[in-house]
Amino acid sequence: MKVTILGSGSSGNSILVESSTTRLLIDAGFSGRDLERRLAAVGRDADSIDALLVTHEHSDHTRGIGVFARRWGTPLYLGDRTRIACRHLLSGTEEIRSYSCAHPVVLGGLRIEPFLTVHDAVDPFAVAVSELETGEKLGIATDLGRPNVAVRHALRECDLLVLESNHDEILLRESIYPWSVKLRIAGSHGHLSNRAAAELVSTIYHPELGGVVLAHLSEQANDPFLAEDAVGIKLERLGFRGELLVGRQHEPLEPIDVSRLKRRVAPEQLSLL
Ligand SMILES: [Zn+2]
Ligand SMILES: [Zn+2]
Repeated sequence: MKVTILGSGSSGNSILVESSTTRLLIDAGFSGRDLERRLAAVGRDADSIDALLVTHEHSDHTRGIGVFARRWGTPLYLGDRTRIACRHLLSGTEEIRSYSCAHPVVLGGLRIEPFLTVHDAVDPFAVAVSELETGEKLGIATDLGRPNVAVRHALRECDLLVLESNHDEILLRESIYPWSVKLRIAGSHGHLSNRAAAELVSTIYHPELGGVVLAHLSEQANDPFLAEDAVGIKLERLGFRGELLVGRQHEPLEPIDVSRLKRRVAPEQLSLL
């Protein structure tokens, strides 16, 4: 499985997940044109995308869904309540497919299991994506007010985690946001701080975890070095041997090869050292 963070942060989010036969976009929080530019930057054509799955209706996850789906004939997977909340972005001509916790999605070589999160959206999902051929597992959990039992359960035994590390608590307090926004972000239905992300990592860590990508960083209330420090220190104490990366708002990261990460932390390798 290959995973490419096309962009991540409070202003827009989109992740490309690929098996050998299937290309899935998760969220499209950029304009249609920007999304095409980001795909081209990592050598992928927009018309090669098999489906676009939307986690929740916030604009940093949905800005380009309608334009992209119509231009490229891409099927859109939406929760029922999210579809209603996104109707201003849709013309009615898109191919809409419904999904829910009770109805996971199997799309070509990928199985997508949604799980409900605590966030101020109508029906917010995080997802675990498994590649059927290899069994490789990716967990994507951003836009978490606080990690609930479902989140911890769904993220067990992932090979790669894309995890929210939205804000530094002091930078958020000192930021230019109005108090109402600060309270929303820090509240139980808002976003995870670096400290909370580090705590979550420590509860779902396992020795074969190959990589962690810190995601959905706030440009106003975070610094990539602070996020990396907070989570990195915790991972180091746990004996983490994988890669720690930080998603970027304005440009994609290089595609991440999950098989390579797995080889890096494989038990056979450990026994040789
Ligand atoms: Zn978001
Ligand atoms: Zn959100």
